[in-house]
Amino acid sequence: MLNIDLHCHSTISDGLLTPTQLVERAASRGVTTLALTDHDDIAGLAEARKIAESKNITFINGVEISVSWRSRTLHIVGLNIDPEYTPLITGLATVRAGRMQRAENIAAELAKIGIHGSLEGAYAHAGERRLIGRTHFARFLVEKGYAKNVKSVFKKYLIKGKPGYTPHEWVTLSDAINWIQGSGGLAVIAHPGRYNLGKNVLNDLLHEFSALGGSAMEVITASHTAQQAKDFAKHAQNMCLMASCGSDFHGPGESYYDLGQLPELPPGCKPVWHDWKNNA
Ligand code: AMP
Ligand code: MN
Ligand code: MN
Ligand code: MN
Repeated sequence: MLNIDLHCHSTISDGLLTPTQLVERAASRGVTTLALTDHDDIAGLAEARKIAESKNITFINGVEISVSWRSRTLHIVGLNIDPEYTPLITGLATVRAGRMQRAENIAAELAKIGIHGSLEGAYAHAGERRLIGRTHFARFLVEKGYAKNVKSVFKKYLIKGKPGYTPHEWVTLSDAINWIQGSGGLAVIAHPGRYNLGKNVLNDLLHEFSALGGSAMEVITASHTAQQAKDFAKHAQNMCLMASCGSDFHGPGESYYDLGQLPELPPGCKPVWHDWKNNA
């Protein structure tokens, strides 16, 4: 039986497990096809692929790119990308470039409300300094007792209108899709339910995404309720977009879905792996 998980993170970005540990966990939980999709970085793919092959897992090269669209942040997953494709490599370097400066800005915001030492504190939780992000700040805030877990940090801190928030310009939707597509991959809108888009804005996004060459959206993800999964399955079908599924696993105890624990795609969806070899 197929057990497909096309979205997860390692210590290369904001996951808690190394690429090797992540693939070993996926194997022990019965995953048959796995994509590693670290934020804005593909440095974990070679290691993950090596272990996946030894465990007989079909490994999919992936990435999750941070995009700014109409003053919102969206995440676009790339699947089956070519990690040797130069425009993708240089493009991801530009996405990452602002992260360390943003981290300083976040720390300055937190200092304003009396939370000091968060920059060093966040880096202490980061695997790769260049991928420093809000999750690392969240882990620091939990460690210091400001919240009981990472999820609850994102209710009180680090989001628009709350302490520790700082606006940031990522890359354009069109650049992200072009890098993914140009490298031979498929572009997928990650967790669309998380952006709280009204009907018209969602409609605009889906049309723009399709016109730019986007292929799919995540229907099954830890960010969606059962109702949202049904709703986005319909949106995907209406727009002739394929459907993807991924746990968005970041680490034991931090994620709603563990690797390989996902419900099936709702009936009527065309799976994003429809045309992939090895999966039929
Ligand atoms: P960044 O790319 O640095 O802005 O960080 C975004 C990351 O923060 C996401 O990939 C999640 O790992 C984490 N995150 C954002 N919102 C939430 C949330 N509501 N609950 C848990 N983690 C979140
Ligand atoms: Mn993350
Ligand atoms: Mn995401
Ligand atoms: Mn993710």
